[in-house]
Amino acid sequence: MYNPKSLKAEEFISHNEVLETLDYADKNKNNLELIDSIIEKAKLRKGLTHREASVLLACDIEEKNNEIFKLAEQIKKDFYGNRIVLFAPLYLSNYCVNGCLYCPYHAKNKDIPRKKMTQEQIRQEVIALQDMGHKRLALESGEDPVNNPIEYILESIETIYSIKHKNGAIRRINVNIAATSVENYKRLKEAEIGTYILFQETYHKESYERLHPTGPKHNYAYHTEAMDRAMQGGIDDVGLGVLFGLQMYRYEFAALLMHAEHLEAVYGVGPHTISVPRVRPAADIDPSSFNNEISDDIFAKIVACLRISVPYTGLIVSTRESQESRERVLHLGVSQISGGSKTSVGGYSDLVVEDESSEQFSINDTRTLDEIVRWLMELGYIPSFCTACYREGRTGDRFMSLCKSGQIQNCCHPNALMTLKEYLEDYASDQTKIIGEKLISEEIRKVPQDKVRRIAEENLIKISEGSRDFRF
Ligand code: SF4
Ligand code: SF4
Repeated sequence: MYNPKSLKAEEFISHNEVLETLDYADKNKNNLELIDSIIEKAKLRKGLTHREASVLLACDIEEKNNEIFKLAEQIKKDFYGNRIVLFAPLYLSNYCVNGCLYCPYHAKNKDIPRKKMTQEQIRQEVIALQDMGHKRLALESGEDPVNNPIEYILESIETIYSIKHKNGAIRRINVNIAATSVENYKRLKEAEIGTYILFQETYHKESYERLHPTGPKHNYAYHTEAMDRAMQGGIDDVGLGVLFGLQMYRYEFAALLMHAEHLEAVYGVGPHTISVPRVRPAADIDPSSFNNEISDDIFAKIVACLRISVPYTGLIVSTRESQESRERVLHLGVSQISGGSKTSVGGYSDLVVEDESSEQFSINDTRTLDEIVRWLMELGYIPSFCTACYREGRTGDRFMSLCKSGQIQNCCHPNALMTLKEYLEDYASDQTKIIGEKLISEEIRKVPQDKVRRIAEENLIKISEGSRDFRF
């Protein structure tokens, strides 16, 4: 029985409801009247239900699809402007007791070097990341209660926040670790994490159990209900995601939105972010062994449909995607990307591994952070290293209500420019700096409120004189 308010995974992600949704979408994919009314509703910028969004995803009328893309682009502009927030993943340990068939860290893989960083090695990694210019990290670790217990994760978070190298600082740590208990989520909250991220991989229970044959992750309900425990533990910014390519994408899409509706229904706040990774090659992993691979066109359509269905939720693409693919989806709704990433343990400082064989997946976009920053600016985007909301306590429903009031524009835009200015002063190449300075001088004029603009202008001068860390 489908019930978004239920705390049971099989009720808020009801298999029957997903099947009925797909059937409804199939039957209505050429229903012009209905499609028009859903597009009109999306224009109100209050989002769509999983059923409505699924009809749009199924629709293959070119003219209507163009309208959907155009609307996604407009909503992206209205809510996120031309800013793109940057982050990097940091892999702490690839010890893992799970048996995920799509990941080279699965316990049975004896060929991969197992690495777990010491606190000193983490320090060196973080200094390397700070020297690139990063301020925001996503912490990654396999699940292993002996090698990577929660105490190790907490100690690592404390180490990372404590490192101040030159003008560098990691100001927000998002955490992507295995589903855990309410008690452990409380401890993560106390450690001042930003978003807790956990990918569902697939919402299709049967496939889920087949793809996770061994280890604690095999338990579908425990994994799917993790965000509920995180919320109960006080973490109100959570990040959802599925690994596209494992199961039929339309199934995942509908279920992902049902998960968002569930969080909204029970906790009054939807997901802070949604990630849209696609299966990538890696040691021991061949994506073609999963026969649900999605094309670039479908990938773009998924991003556009998510953008108009959950306008207040940040959308993330990683370096799994190529430069071309990222370029295509940036204007359709993506608000955060990773840059200069390494997906192996110790990859930034080359401390722990000499070869690349411990990477979790192979990276498609291998450019440096400086190249990414320049590329974004050349495309007309403002690369942002902003972490202000979480540091000002604007999380969960406080963040969402600010977002819904439209006032976020007076924060995000100047914050993006001030953090970009810091990047230009401390880390950019000469060429990037020239482009960036020009961009800042043009964009600062667009800050809507006079008072905010004046303060931001003063702060930009102070940054060039050596001060750091201003925020609205
Ligand atoms: S996906 Fe995560 S849990 Fe699964 S094997 Fe890889 S590291 Fe372990
Ligand atoms: S002001 Fe808040 S919402 Fe805007 S970019 Fe910064 S952290 Fe994100």
